[in-house]
Amino acid sequence: MAIPRDTIEHIRQKAAIEDIIRRYVPTLTKKGKNYVGLCPFHKETSPSFTVSPDKQMFYCFGCHEGGNVFTFIAKVEHVDFVQSVKIVGEIVGIPVRNEEKQNDEYATLLAINAMIAERYRQALMSAAGKRALDYLLNRGVTRQGIDEFQLGYAPDEWQYATDILRQKNVPLDIAVKTGNINKSVKNSTSHYYDRFRNRVIFPIFDQKNEIIGFGGRIIESGEPKYMNSPESLVFQKRNILYGFNKARQHIAELGRAIVVEGYLDVIGVYQAGIQNVVAPLGTALTQEQLQLLSRLSNEVIIVFDADSAGVKASLRSLDVAANLNITIKIAQLPEMDPFDFVNKRGAREFMAVVDSALKPVDFRIERIIAENKGKSQVNVLKQIFDILRTIPFEVERQHYFKKLSSVFQVDEKAIRADYERFTKGKTTNGVIVTDNNTVDFYAKSQRELVLLLCNYPLLIENAIVDCSLQDFTDTVAKNIYQTLITLYEDNESFSLEKMFDFYPEGEEKKLLTQGFSKQFSFEDPHVAYSEIILNMKLFTIDKKINEFAEKIEKDNRENIQYYITEIEVLRREKEKLTSYIYNKGSIKH
Ligand SMILES: [Zn+2]
Repeated sequence: MAIPRDTIEHIRQKAAIEDIIRRYVPTLTKKGKNYVGLCPFHKETSPSFTVSPDKQMFYCFGCHEGGNVFTFIAKVEHVDFVQSVKIVGEIVGIPVRNEEKQNDEYATLLAINAMIAERYRQALMSAAGKRALDYLLNRGVTRQGIDEFQLGYAPDEWQYATDILRQKNVPLDIAVKTGNINKSVKNSTSHYYDRFRNRVIFPIFDQKNEIIGFGGRIIESGEPKYMNSPESLVFQKRNILYGFNKARQHIAELGRAIVVEGYLDVIGVYQAGIQNVVAPLGTALTQEQLQLLSRLSNEVIIVFDADSAGVKASLRSLDVAANLNITIKIAQLPEMDPFDFVNKRGAREFMAVVDSALKPVDFRIERIIAENKGKSQVNVLKQIFDILRTIPFEVERQHYFKKLSSVFQVDEKAIRADYERFTKGKTTNGVIVTDNNTVDFYAKSQRELVLLLCNYPLLIENAIVDCSLQDFTDTVAKNIYQTLITLYEDNESFSLEKMFDFYPEGEEKKLLTQGFSKQFSFEDPHVAYSEIILNMKLFTIDKKINEFAEKIEKDNRENIQYYITEIEVLRREKEKLTSYIYNKGSIKH
């Protein structure tokens, strides 16, 4: 995190969540202990959006959005956590400054990029850039598109950018950090030369419209076809989407983002009047990029070329999205890439393809069927079963059995039976195995425990004694527990509200949000605590007892007495535990 924790703490203490939120939710009025108003995150006519001054949290009973003051600002302003802290800081009069030195260097690198981008633009319009300009115009990029995306040309010279920097007295070693020029050392003399030569230049912008890097496309033949700036202080590919600076507002307004493969695709689709379009930088979508989009919209449509390389890339990015609160769909163009398609067929036909996008599972199934035309049905079904296995919900799986039965003209029961046989002994891919209630229950206890601890931080002292990190099988609860322990060991105070700083996104955030309205079954938090710990411990003991019982069934006679003794010991431990808890209200040994 770029902002020092004590600054965040300072801002938190000065910011009353109800005052900050009222700036965005004018309908906010006091009702009992809380404030209620019309939710800014979903359409509603009667208020279900609630702010608790006690908890310093908000929660919407309609759309279940919730969090602390920073999460609110991040969501409503479409910014990340760091940005949201800065905004709240501005409101309460505590300006956030980044570390000065880094800030200086950051600004310097941006200034160098801006300077060079300007000269690349001039070069595109010069005689030397004629071939590059012709290439763009012939492909179908309009003059307006060239201006809008500030396209340029890196001349076929080794020292074009280098000379510009020299003339402007920019220290070349600093310029090397932008990746615009490279350095080689021969006989202890440094040589500097341009990275981009004879390429069309696509400046890459951040959200504040600063140029943080470049993409360069070779004009005729040559390798590599595309080349990007290297990673630097200002340029981290996994966090950036090409076109995001322009598309951001449109994505937020439409609630939908269109992702295409390349720079030209973005420009082509944008030129055609479809402006909620972005592209990753030459790789599959990353978790960070999807997170960026999920803050603005709830649907991402990945549109890829007709060739299969793009499809593979898009399929890889799906696994990344599994735990984000966003719907991903895939559309594949029947021919060409998005740039040519939209140019030749127009925006309306392009949007028809976008609107026909399929959910990933459907997409995968359709592909398997299409690729295996004429092959044995059993073989095709096996591949499909492998996909169905990854669906965490039985209800959804049933839907596909129906569908397959009509596609293959086979009785649904037969398909289901084959599926059962095929998947026997293989594990499903759900976060929590849904057909096993005991596991659900154990995971639930763990989640309740961390929520209780967030609400009653003093209980952490007991928890550290009673419950080690290894006792956690649920990843979400485990992560939060780990953070709680770390804060405790660092002598830092914590609260439910503060935990959102560490988890502004994802499953952990979802769980923490539930804490807003969580009613524990006991008035006294100590009793609730003991109940949960008891449940967790009893579960572990029961699991061991079952294991021994199974061994008795399978193992040979000699060991049976040993297993019976072990079970007896465990049973006694269980009884002791139960009575101890109800007598003393705590498990401290
Ligand atoms: Zn809502």
